[in-house]
Amino acid sequence: MRNPVPDYLHEILDSLRDDRAGTVADYIPQLADADPDVLGVALAIPNGRTYSVGDDRVEFSIQSISKPFAYAAALIDRGADAVDATVGVEPSGEAFDELSLEGGTHRPKNPMINAGALAVHHLLAGDDATSQDRVTRIVEFLSELAGRVLTVDEDVYRSEIETADRNLAIVHMLRNYGVVAGSAHAVVDGYTRQCAVRVTVRDLAVMGATLANAGVQPVTGNRVVPAAVARRTLAVMAGCGMYDAAGDWLVRVGIPAKSGVAGGLMGALPGELGLGTVSPRLDTHGNSVRGVAICERLSRDMGMHLMDAE
Ligand code: GLN
Repeated sequence: MRNPVPDYLHEILDSLRDDRAGTVADYIPQLADADPDVLGVALAIPNGRTYSVGDDRVEFSIQSISKPFAYAAALIDRGADAVDATVGVEPSGEAFDELSLEGGTHRPKNPMINAGALAVHHLLAGDDATSQDRVTRIVEFLSELAGRVLTVDEDVYRSEIETADRNLAIVHMLRNYGVVAGSAHAVVDGYTRQCAVRVTVRDLAVMGATLANAGVQPVTGNRVVPAAVARRTLAVMAGCGMYDAAGDWLVRVGIPAKSGVAGGLMGALPGELGLGTVSPRLDTHGNSVRGVAICERLSRDMGMHLMDAE
């Protein structure tokens, strides 16, 4: 019998193809010049099977979708206490590039906003890690999750670093409060490389499926993330992954997810599946318009809302 899943996914993409709402991120030429019509979706299920249609081989920069994985890597490298001392788990309700620090501790509110992700990047690979060690750690970790060797898009990296003043300012503030130590430039440099790693929707689906599968990569069968770390990462994604639209997302879609400024979106439904979408036009929160619409459809049609009792 012919498998109905690809036809169903094609039908979803076709229903959204004419939706041109939103705008492509334009703060660097590599994103401004990206083809805005790119549209792809992939699903990966725990038995290792992946379904994908549309622009499923197009590579784009992972951007903020790297944040939950860097958080997981920092939890593995440093343990929960050290990570908790550096970054909180509370939704900020503010834009992704706001400083959003907790009163008193001055910890960034969560690891999904830039302030928290920059602090988390700084924790990677242990106490004496160099900037190169942190980059190697995260690129290798992302590769293990994807099940293939991923690389940094050097053009995206170079452009981002030329316009990274806001992230530099954030790290300087974090240094001022003692949340981050060492060179602010080195932290921003490494984080920017982390964001410039190239992925496809198939990679995102498999990476999401690994979190959904309690940390076991469904294609390679390797345990990449301890189960407790996968659970915590999913919990933080559910609360904070869609930035200041996180509450609305949790009500309407109900799948722990993370978006990126290049138009990618990764979702992970515990015990069920991982999903990846790409469509570069973004809404005012910085989330992909058609990516959100695809997830809404999947959630509704397949009863994928986390809070569904049946
Ligand atoms: N590289 C971007 C930044 O730090 C990533 C932001 C995003 O994907 N929302 O500003």
